[in-house]
Amino acid sequence: MKIIKKFGDKKFDLNLSKKSDNLSIDEFSIPVNRILLMEQVHSDKLKIIENINMKKDKILHPVLGVDGVITNKPGIFLAVKTADCIPIFVWDERKNVIAALHSGRKGTELNITSKAIDIFIHDFKSDPAEIHVELGPAICGNCYPVERKTFAEFVHKTGVEQAFPNLDLKKVLKNKLKNIGILSENILDHQICTKEDSRYFSYRENGTKRRQISVIGMI
Ligand SMILES: [Zn+2]
Repeated sequence: MKIIKKFGDKKFDLNLSKKSDNLSIDEFSIPVNRILLMEQVHSDKLKIIENINMKKDKILHPVLGVDGVITNKPGIFLAVKTADCIPIFVWDERKNVIAALHSGRKGTELNITSKAIDIFIHDFKSDPAEIHVELGPAICGNCYPVERKTFAEFVHKTGVEQAFPNLDLKKVLKNKLKNIGILSENILDHQICTKEDSRYFSYRENGTKRRQISVIGMI
């Protein structure tokens, strides 16, 4: 199987009004009705996806109440929508398992990424040394100031030192990933800041309700 993935920007549009549209990733054309969106509620809840009910009369089949989806089935495209929070792809090419995760401040505190990797290891028998993690465009550690109470709570819950007043979510993630045995060469950080780079939607830049979409799937 081949893994196809793309972190979206403002131009990568699902065009929600046309359910029959296809979305292009590299040379591949993906039917929009094979894309699975999540509700995203700033939780650490995950769901393993076995199939997509294409007849379901819901645009893009939203999975309710979760911030992470995992599958080992080809033809199911997992999507995450973000505007400063971190879109994360996890994959294991040997076991053919993929995940799309949404990790903002809450998700990072709750360690949703490590919980997803636990599922790779226990449910899909992945070897941590074979697991790859990709951190997409998100707000950087220089652009995310918070109040002292929020800052203290974040440091307390994550156990990772931060530079007041900014939160650095990716620093926490990389720390947690190394602790659970993910090899540093298998952690790819795109190092694009959504607040500084105008190609991306940024909630903290202008309060936008719009989101970029990132998609991973296997064919
Ligand atoms: Zn920044």
